[in-house]
Amino acid sequence: MRPALAVICLTLFAAPAWAKTGPFKPWIDGTAASEPTTQTQRYDRDTYVIRQSVKTNFEAPFLYLLFGRDRALLLDSGAGGTPIRPAVDAAIAQWLAEHHRASIPLIVAHTHGHGDHHMGDDEFQARPDTTVVGLKPEEVAAFFRIADWPLQVVGFDLGGRTLQVIPAPGHQPAHIMIWDPRTRWLLSGDTLYPGRLYVPVNRFGDFRDSLDRVAAFTASHRVSRVMGAHIEMTRQPGKDLPDAVLVHADEHVLELPYADLLELQAAVHAMGDKAARDVHPDFIVTPIPPR
Ligand SMILES: [Zn+2]
Ligand SMILES: [Zn+2]
Repeated sequence: MRPALAVICLTLFAAPAWAKTGPFKPWIDGTAASEPTTQTQRYDRDTYVIRQSVKTNFEAPFLYLLFGRDRALLLDSGAGGTPIRPAVDAAIAQWLAEHHRASIPLIVAHTHGHGDHHMGDDEFQARPDTTVVGLKPEEVAAFFRIADWPLQVVGFDLGGRTLQVIPAPGHQPAHIMIWDPRTRWLLSGDTLYPGRLYVPVNRFGDFRDSLDRVAAFTASHRVSRVMGAHIEMTRQPGKDLPDAVLVHADEHVLELPYADLLELQAAVHAMGDKAARDVHPDFIVTPIPPR
């Protein structure tokens, strides 16, 4: 084989390491006898993902910490059961040290208003240079300057990193998704993650309309991965973990392909006007009573 051809072949077949394993090391999943209360993984210089141990709360949520030049955004503050701020402060301290800076304003916002996403808020209320965004749709809309909730998508500039905030009520009335131009992640909260996607039957229309708007947005904004807030699926397609277990054996990876967003959109449209349980390889649409 000629050298030039060998180079081409290596380029074609040497897939990046994460292509098989994903971009993250294994997450803490409760299978070890003991594990830290939180685990932080740095995706790139300005992007951290924090997981709360399932041993501290069965929801075991994922939190996202994104840095721009001028401010940082913490999306969700945990489910309670353990302090979350030490992990956030440690990541911020690392970032500040690298940038030879003393401080950066922090915004604490939420994918939505369910308790497993904001129980850590109190730890941040008195933190210097920190804003904790409210939980009601009107508070979320006011903070992000969304004049026409839920129809308007607005930019939120962290400084050289303008996030796009997309109202997505359905799972819960104050739900938002965030698209990040740096990673091209779609931070999808509880609307789409590898798990049981709970939809109150009386909010099914909102859920479907939100998926339509998000899908329309992604026609002009490429999504590399859909990054949700929990993992409730196993690695076996269509098989979920038992509800509220404290050990996530054989847990699915966190990240979902963009195609899953379109698969979910198509699935809810196929249901007509009534939400139905619907098992897919990476998620299970799960109707729940009105709320
Ligand atoms: Zn929720
Ligand atoms: Zn949740």
